Amino acid sequence: MPRALRKDENPPRHPTGSLTTPSGETISYTIYRSRRRTFAIMVRPSGEVLVRAPQRASEWRIQSFAEAHAAWLETALAKAAARKTVSDGLPPITADDLKQLKKSARQILPARVAHQAARMGVTYGKLSFRAQRTRWGSCSSVGNLSFNILLLLAPKEVLDYVIIHELCHRRHMDHSPAFWREVERYCPDWRTSYAWLKEQGPYLIDRMERGRN
Ligand SMILES: [Zn+2]
Repeated sequence: MPRALRKDENPPRHPTGSLTTPSGETISYTIYRSRRRTFAIMVRPSGEVLVRAPQRASEWRIQSFAEAHAAWLETALAKAAARKTVSDGLPPITADDLKQLKKSARQILPARVAHQAARMGVTYGKLSFRAQRTRWGSCSSVGNLSFNILLLLAPKEVLDYVIIHELCHRRHMDHSPAFWREVERYCPDWRTSYAWLKEQGPYLIDRMERGRN
């Protein structure tokens, strides 16, 4: 029978589990079940550990999946902690900064997108510019493009890479090898930008999160 909740107690949104790492540290994680078929584990910039699992996965399966990644987790958590230390030293991006970035995006991006699209021989629909936590850009099925305004704080090559990436989705709506060949054709050095976003992007997002508080 389910335990009755006290009045001041909220039901937990997601179940949690915990494991012990090779060096003896206890780590707890949050379980997110969804309509997926595979398991995944990740560390959020905050240091929170998530395990994603299929809807019907047993707790035992989830636990053994998490335990199999204990050593990996230890490294990933250490990296997240180091990143957080660096990030805490960087100025937060405030609401005013975001307003300014949006203004710059409207001034700078349309011409850059138009230039790349002309070079690549593709068309596109509407452009929109947003501050986003989870993506750098997107391309809808009708060709409307959206770009994260935080990209204006990245090197120009990174900005161009994201523009080219989204425009390549006008030819391939997936991330297939054919898609990446297309990216390579117009942005031969895309790997450097890709790595930059992966390494430095979380700092930008973290600074924005801090600016919002
Ligand atoms: Zn993409």
